[in-house]
Amino acid sequence: MQRIALLVFLATTTLFSQSQTDLSYYLPNDVEYNSNIPTPKSVIGHEVGEWHITHDKLVQYMKALSNASDRITIEDRGKTFEDRPLLLLTITSPQNHQNIDAIQSAQIDATETNSANTENRPIVVYQGFSIHGNEPSGSNASLLAAYYLAAAEGSQIDNLLDNTVILFDPSLNPDGLQRFAYWANTNKNINLNPDPNDREYSEIWPGGRTNHYWFDMNRDWLPVQLPESRARIKTFHSWMPNILTDHHEMGTNSSFFFQPGIPSRTHPLTPQLNQDLTKEIATYHAKAFNKIGSLYYSEESFDDFYYGKGSTFPDINGGIGILFEQASSRGHIQESDNGILTFPFTIKNQFTAALSTLEAANGMRKDILDYQYNFFKNARTEASKEGNKAIVFGDEKDAAKTYHLAEILKRHNIKFHDVKSDFSSNGKNYKKGYSYIVPKNQKNTRLINAMFEKRTTFQDSLFYDVSAWTFPLAFNLDYTETTTANAGNEIKDLQHLKGGVNAKSDYAYLFEWNAYYAPKLLNQILKKGLRAKVSMKNFKANGKSYDYGTIMIPAKNQNLSASEIYTFLNDEAQKSHVDIDAVSTGLNNGIDLGSNNFRSLELPKVAILVGDGMTSYDAGEIWHLFDTRYDIIATKLDTERFGRADLSRYNTIIMVNSYSGLNESNTKKLQSWIQKGGTLVAYKNALRWLNTKKLMTIDFKKSDLTAKDITYEQRGDFRGAQVIGGAIFETKLDRSHPINFGYKNNNLAMFRNTTLFINPDKNSYNNPIQYTKRPLLSGYISEENLDSISSSIPLKIGGLGRGTIVAFTDNTNFRAFWYGTNKLLMNAIFFRDEM
Ligand SMILES: [Zn+2]
Repeated sequence: MQRIALLVFLATTTLFSQSQTDLSYYLPNDVEYNSNIPTPKSVIGHEVGEWHITHDKLVQYMKALSNASDRITIEDRGKTFEDRPLLLLTITSPQNHQNIDAIQSAQIDATETNSANTENRPIVVYQGFSIHGNEPSGSNASLLAAYYLAAAEGSQIDNLLDNTVILFDPSLNPDGLQRFAYWANTNKNINLNPDPNDREYSEIWPGGRTNHYWFDMNRDWLPVQLPESRARIKTFHSWMPNILTDHHEMGTNSSFFFQPGIPSRTHPLTPQLNQDLTKEIATYHAKAFNKIGSLYYSEESFDDFYYGKGSTFPDINGGIGILFEQASSRGHIQESDNGILTFPFTIKNQFTAALSTLEAANGMRKDILDYQYNFFKNARTEASKEGNKAIVFGDEKDAAKTYHLAEILKRHNIKFHDVKSDFSSNGKNYKKGYSYIVPKNQKNTRLINAMFEKRTTFQDSLFYDVSAWTFPLAFNLDYTETTTANAGNEIKDLQHLKGGVNAKSDYAYLFEWNAYYAPKLLNQILKKGLRAKVSMKNFKANGKSYDYGTIMIPAKNQNLSASEIYTFLNDEAQKSHVDIDAVSTGLNNGIDLGSNNFRSLELPKVAILVGDGMTSYDAGEIWHLFDTRYDIIATKLDTERFGRADLSRYNTIIMVNSYSGLNESNTKKLQSWIQKGGTLVAYKNALRWLNTKKLMTIDFKKSDLTAKDITYEQRGDFRGAQVIGGAIFETKLDRSHPINFGYKNNNLAMFRNTTLFINPDKNSYNNPIQYTKRPLLSGYISEENLDSISSSIPLKIGGLGRGTIVAFTDNTNFRAFWYGTNKLLMNAIFFRDEM
């Protein structure tokens, strides 16, 4: 009896902990494997799926494989923020490797010429895994896929590798993968515990989904602001892959999803044939999943609308992007609606989809090569019909924002030119060095349209992500259509941004606030202990006009000598790419330099609230902005620590989007800190909390939308149609208000992904930023919400005791590429006492 019980016990524990973690569980068993190729276990020390792979071990294995196999070469394409390598394996037959440069040239030629060989050329497949670090089955499956591709023997694999070049990216998000592996492994039990309440299955804030600065990297394929994306996009454009796969995970109770997604939500710039081919590729996945008995679905969720996602980006670049979503075991094993979900099972499904993709690529090779060839051929025809049309963009007062948009164009191999000489169009000036011209007649013409177009009509009213990303609006740049007649030389390499002091002064220095990096410079000046003031009015000095927000640094009565100040300012101005003017007199046309309308400034001491209750994306965007762009040190103050922290160290606290806000005692603490003179900058749902806690009275518009003639089945779509997933709206600015210093135009595009609408104050001077009557510039909004947003305000500024609250409904720092509204946040922290 006892012996039987023991055997049963052993069998059960084996079931959960051991039996599935064996290579034979994963790999096709009708194939011989080359014994000279190291198995994953022989390098990483455990079987795939037994522990979550850490990125360092993954690197170790991929290097070992490339050493052992003549099918694999490996390259290190750069580093993550945490200095982890961004690896790429190129996997193909040894013969193709001998010839790899010619294969790559032929692949690029096919996108650029009217005669391309699609008969006997390999197809190029980019396979990327786990861009969301806490969706780990992808990267763990990459160990198996790489092993299989290196070690499998026989005519089938030889044929596959002859016909395919695989660009293999085992971890799209190394920092996130490492963070998640640490969590899942440190909480693992020897006796695997499938109880969803176990700590193993609820990661601590902010989780491993994102990268170092808490960005969702699967939104950055188009803006390319993060180092991981830069390396990847460089590979993409140098190879123009025909298929790109993106392996994710979704909720534990689901099954497996492969594209196509919801057909009505495909971006209209994507050709129908792209979706038809996706559907044909899906038949290969279905067949492979039928064989192993795994459930799956397609077409009912996810979409191909926003081109900044990995599975959609290829669709505007002549390729086919495929999204995979596997139900997540999150840790090692979890109860689910489909029974016990083990980590190895999730890995096996991802591995299966990786192989079925390659099978489809091989089977449909010619059709897909033809598709890409025709995509670019048709695009060239469209572009030539546009003749010498071009887009010009720029900002005559800010070279840096212009530069950073140009940088994105460079990353996407989009050609652009200098302006031949300064010119004006629609009342805007386009200055040489401050503007660029993008001819529409070029290879990436469809990509250019996708980046620059404004779109306000849609086939569907539901979106998986944002519905608009119009780049010149995000950068707050002037732009218009022009002709290539205005174009000067093509820009091969972007010239570094300049800056400096034009002369030494014994009286004072001035710089305008328009330049993107002006806050970086001001912060250095104040940090050095120098006195600086901001002008509340326009004036003219030395015949030059200076706008609201001009910064003045007196040369005398400072803690540095006049010549030390000159050296310091010149150095910092260069680093911040700002032009500083020396002036020798205080007598101006308008306010003089000694006027009370120059107000003294104080060094910002900033804390960003992070941790439970705060939205990590929004907090990360601000952390990244301060740390990587403005070199401003901001404390990440955890809500857990808030009660014990000495708040007098800070004069500014930022509360990002939050539904819960702070607990009672912390709320009181924050309130008394504001009353003593602190400035709170709050975003989105934190405003509701402020209103509820009576820290600020905000007059929100009420929505009384009721469903009429909507069935139970339609209820989800009805509600979804009222969501603003992300769209762009026009505001008008009162430029004399400090929150708007540094903006040269009277209108500003803002990004919002909330349905919080605030009624304007009855005193117009309290509405420095207000939506116009019909503010929709680009993206989707329901008719009901369009009525609500009309003439409402995205910003409310209020006082509390001696302190100030600056409250935004809109995100001024969205995904690191909304350069155009970053200055609103900077104004809130530098000019807080002037509001
Ligand atoms: Zn994901």
